[in-house]
Amino acid sequence: MVDLQIDGLVSTVMSTDHATVAEEEYLQTLFWLQEAELPMTGANVARAMQLSAPTVHEMIGRLERDGYIARGEDKVIGFTDSGLEHAEGVVRRHRLIERFLTDVLGIAWDEVHEEAERLEHAMSPVLEERMLAAIGDAKTCPHGHPIVGGTRIGGVPLADVSEGASVQVLRFENEAEDLLHYLKDSGLEPGLHGTVTATSGEEVTVTAADGRECTVTHSVGETVSVIADPSPPPRIALPEQLVLARERYGR
Ligand SMILES: [Zn+2]
Ligand SMILES: [Zn+2]
Repeated sequence: MVDLQIDGLVSTVMSTDHATVAEEEYLQTLFWLQEAELPMTGANVARAMQLSAPTVHEMIGRLERDGYIARGEDKVIGFTDSGLEHAEGVVRRHRLIERFLTDVLGIAWDEVHEEAERLEHAMSPVLEERMLAAIGDAKTCPHGHPIVGGTRIGGVPLADVSEGASVQVLRFENEAEDLLHYLKDSGLEPGLHGTVTATSGEEVTVTAADGRECTVTHSVGETVSVIADPSPPPRIALPEQLVLARERYGR
């Protein structure tokens, strides 16, 4: 009897479909590329994760063998149903954890990304449900990304907006933590309303409604999505602008 129960338990555990932590990291990055409407290619994954091409190539092969992705003849990657489900799950948990850490635990928004990277792989559905209840009405992570897929609002890069336009900050497209520290120091944050009072090839300044001046480099301005009035035409970010790991912004 006992043996039978143990056998049953083992076979239940074995048949559970589990991606490894590394696989989840890659699935998450692919999801970010898809959201940003960038081609899901090994080169873009390598760029976003700041990893070498051979390393990425090997892991892409593993994801394909494990049935999470499929590759077309043009080398462009697509999610399988199972891959998309895993990717959406890990991205949702990441953003939910970040929101929980800022709103419930009071941690600054530039210090939660790396914590979420660690916790997102080890969360049970029950804990996820509890956290979701704890964050109340919040719909995005503290950097402006929707927790539930399919609710992303379009936007334009702050760097494209002309002087005199009014802006509302939607989100920070990159979450490399040192970039978040820089943005925090600048005074910009998702939800902030202001006016672009200076812009050049070097820097962009947004003056907030309360008179505070927030200045970032032009290259960082490329990664800040805003709603602007008047608005420049929408455009897709350049692949080198989506970086989720470590910093690469000359400052
Ligand atoms: Zn994050
Ligand atoms: Zn975030």
